[in-house]
Amino acid sequence: MKKMKSNTDFDVAIIGVGPAGMSAAIYLLRAGVSCALFEKEAPGGNLNKTYRIENYPGYTDKEGTVLAFRMYSQIEELGANLKVEEVKNVLKKDEVFEVITDNNKYLVNYVLIASGRTPRKLKAINADKYESKGISYCAICDGALYKNKDVIIIGGGNSAMETASYLSDIAQNVYVLNRSNNLRADKKEIDDVRKNDNVKVMYNVTAEEIIGDDKKITGVKLNTGEIIKTDGVFVCIGHDANDDYYQSLSLKTNEKGIVVNDNMETNISCVYACGDAIDKSLYQVITATSEGAIAASSIINDKKSRN
Ligand SMILES: Cc1cc2nc3c(=O)[nH]c(=O)nc-3n(C[C@H](O)[C@H](O)[C@H](O)COP(=O)(O)OP(=O)(O)OC[C@H]3O[C@@H](n4cnc5c(N)ncnc54)[C@H](O)[C@@H]3O)c2cc1C
Repeated sequence: MKKMKSNTDFDVAIIGVGPAGMSAAIYLLRAGVSCALFEKEAPGGNLNKTYRIENYPGYTDKEGTVLAFRMYSQIEELGANLKVEEVKNVLKKDEVFEVITDNNKYLVNYVLIASGRTPRKLKAINADKYESKGISYCAICDGALYKNKDVIIIGGGNSAMETASYLSDIAQNVYVLNRSNNLRADKKEIDDVRKNDNVKVMYNVTAEEIIGDDKKITGVKLNTGEIIKTDGVFVCIGHDANDDYYQSLSLKTNEKGIVVNDNMETNISCVYACGDAIDKSLYQVITATSEGAIAASSIINDKKSRN
């Protein structure tokens, strides 16, 4: 087993300062492990894009940005070394890793990938305007807001079908807009949707325009000219992995993200991943924070075993 190099800049590079990266930082910093946190935008990740968060235990203030600020304050107090730099590449160099950002290069012993994923945006007139005012990318997060109301789901894959099944228990009417004449989802997911009388799948249609009263959505205009009244729109057209920068590492991935074991280890020694960046079944703050903690604790144990 390799010994840790002592002439590195930091023990750990945490890439991405969302809930996963910040939770990892709490554990690493409290254990006295030196780490640098790289963030290309602002600490908080997708929490900053979450208008209301109602399913994180103990947090009843609802605003995502406030939770982001509190998490960041906690790691700042522990002495977090935040680098507002976009990581462009990570290279394995003998026993260590070189993290390359816009302007700098850092040598580290461990890499922790916590860079999340980005939901694909709806391209329809007014879609930007009604984000957080009725357009949602996450049914588990926002579904409860639509009890006995009408919702539209955009997409025809597994995630759209899971969303339709989930919302059929909450909403009054669920419309699924599918752009072709076939659903891409697995048969099991489609069969589950068909069991629900309040779900109507519409084929060969796309959302052309979001209609609203400036404060909330009231309907969606289709490419056919028809307007469907709705209270909310759930966009389920996939996610893009924020993966450009780690291509040189040849990590094992699948269509959902990086493949890790129970300790958040990837297939490359000393490279860990957590949060929305990994292949898993539930993409939420609560899972991201727990995986960040597990990844950090695995790094701490690994480091001890090499000293
Ligand atoms: C609109 C919306 C609403 C949501 N609502 C809820 C909710 O109500 N409840 C809930 O539990 N979950 C909710 N989620 C899901 C939740 O936000 C995510 O599961 C969680 O934020 C994942 O945390 P993460 O740290 O893994 O990734 P992220 O939060 O995505 O953070 C990753 C960070 O990495 C940074 N990054 C990416 N690439 C690089 C790079 N190359 N260099 C430097 N930095 C980089 C990004 O800028 C980002 O800040 C919602 C998600 C969205 C999009």
